[in-house]
Amino acid sequence: MRTIASLALAAGIIGFAGNLLAQQQPAPPAPAAPPQRDFSKVEIITTDLGNNTYMLQGEGGNITLAVGSDAAIMVDSEFPPLHDRIKAAIAKVTSVPIKYLVNTHFHADHTSGDALFHQEGATIVAHVNVKNRLAAGTTNGLTGVKTPPVEADGLPTMTYSDRMTLKIKGRTATLGHPKNAHTDGDTYVYFKDADVLATGDIFTNGRYPNIDFANGGNINGMITGARIYLFLADDKTKIVPGHGPLAGKADIATYLIMLEAARDRMSKLVKAGKSEADVIAARPFADLDKKWAVSEQASTNFIRVVYHSLADKAANGKTASQ
Ligand SMILES: [Zn+2]
Repeated sequence: MRTIASLALAAGIIGFAGNLLAQQQPAPPAPAAPPQRDFSKVEIITTDLGNNTYMLQGEGGNITLAVGSDAAIMVDSEFPPLHDRIKAAIAKVTSVPIKYLVNTHFHADHTSGDALFHQEGATIVAHVNVKNRLAAGTTNGLTGVKTPPVEADGLPTMTYSDRMTLKIKGRTATLGHPKNAHTDGDTYVYFKDADVLATGDIFTNGRYPNIDFANGGNINGMITGARIYLFLADDKTKIVPGHGPLAGKADIATYLIMLEAARDRMSKLVKAGKSEADVIAARPFADLDKKWAVSEQASTNFIRVVYHSLADKAANGKTASQ
């Protein structure tokens, strides 16, 4: 039979062992750095959209180029190692300089090439929240990976908050800002004279989008954004998605149905008090995965971003979109 003293001693040992365990507990692993991309094999593919307007595809977000008589407007810039190849692709269609480089949002696969174009004379144009996010540095809500602040050279120098029109000789670009969609600083660019709409990552053609819920993104804003695009587009509009092949209005309509189904299903699960682990295990979008998930990881990521959109107070449209 144990005495009080031996119990106390045992408790002490357990307590000591517990402390030891706590001390030996390794620090939580630092988030893995994003894998180094190999750009050596990337080719820039140019698609002529008519009326001196082009889509350029390399690695990262799609680029749109609208050429005027003495200058050009470009949308998004991909990565610095691709700069010379992008320039060479542009040189095949025009010799005029880039006057404006518009960013559709702050993510590096759309903006990290900015500094080099800026050094060559382009004015970087974006929603004011893009400048703020790039200047402050950001954290990826899915991975915890931190992106450091961008040097002044790579920051937008012309910003807007609601709408803006950019004009060069012979071309006009209308910029609009759907609130709290892919991020809190999204811009679409519509070239009415060519009937070309550059959507940024509010629309990714043929696959699930990312929703950057940690930086103001929300599934409800994605749905509103897709509806704005349907309103702007007609059956002939050429739609340059943030990622994926050139699209038309029907592709946005199909995409919107998927977004709404995902939002409605997840709303029910969130209202029922399900945790992130519960909803991942439930695979609520299994039937949608066949068309939209490029991998198992993409399927899980989409569940997570839709869940956080609706479950997190900070990401909830009711508070964030005001
Ligand atoms: Zn993005």
